[in-house]
Amino acid sequence: MPEAPPDAAARRAVAPVAVYDPDALDRKIPDPGPLTPVDTIRVPPRDARAIHVPAGHVLRILSIEGAQVGDLNLFAADDLSERFFSGKTRALHGTHVTAGDRLWSCLPYLRPMATIIYDSLSWYGTDPHGCRVHDVIGTRCDPYTGRLLGGDDYHRCCHSNLTRALADATDLPLPEAEGHVHDVLNVFMATGFDETGRYIMKASPVRPGDRLDLQAQFDLLAVLSTCPGGDCGSGHSSDDAPCFPIDLQVLAPAPGVLEGWQVPPSNPYDRSHGR
Ligand SMILES: [Zn+2]
Repeated sequence: MPEAPPDAAARRAVAPVAVYDPDALDRKIPDPGPLTPVDTIRVPPRDARAIHVPAGHVLRILSIEGAQVGDLNLFAADDLSERFFSGKTRALHGTHVTAGDRLWSCLPYLRPMATIIYDSLSWYGTDPHGCRVHDVIGTRCDPYTGRLLGGDDYHRCCHSNLTRALADATDLPLPEAEGHVHDVLNVFMATGFDETGRYIMKASPVRPGDRLDLQAQFDLLAVLSTCPGGDCGSGHSSDDAPCFPIDLQVLAPAPGVLEGWQVPPSNPYDRSHGR
């Protein structure tokens, strides 16, 4: 390791500033009024399913049988090239999201796809290990990393589950669907960083009845994988962990709530990039 320079302490002591001002973002939690269920899909263990969520409707991700983490992808229903942007959501809201935070779409669209309107695990806060729930840090378990680390091929990783479910929902060939699968929102997962900055996970505090409610800002296709890691307290690339289904429910807002509903426009930047 190189020797620290004489001004090391002064360099380290420079005060940090927040990159984005959270007050500049609209963080009001919308009130959709009494909700009416219109659709439900049960995601079996170690698998994924897709569901359409119309603008203004609520996607409820519901724990039903046991501690189970879900890996969520979001797309504009009419254009798969507009998808959830985990990195920018992290930069704008933080490493973990909860009620009041928004899930943003990728460049060049960069508009809110959904607002989190209820999080039954918001009480969890930051635990003694520095972990929080619902991260936008991790990517998704996948068979390629399994190969990289010398393991056997395992076909029920979240990446593969999402790929199959998206292919089934869109009639795209598997390789094309795979190209649209992206970094996820880790629903119900408890994660953080250790003192050296390494990504850590622990068994999720989720229990049956817990839920995360998202209000769609425009028509969405949501795809959720029930991670083969189960509560993600151990590994991800085997059938060893107990796994449970998760329900995806779509709920319509109260009549009148959608009157005058404004779909957020795509980002107004003109894309000239200085040319
Ligand atoms: Zn997974």
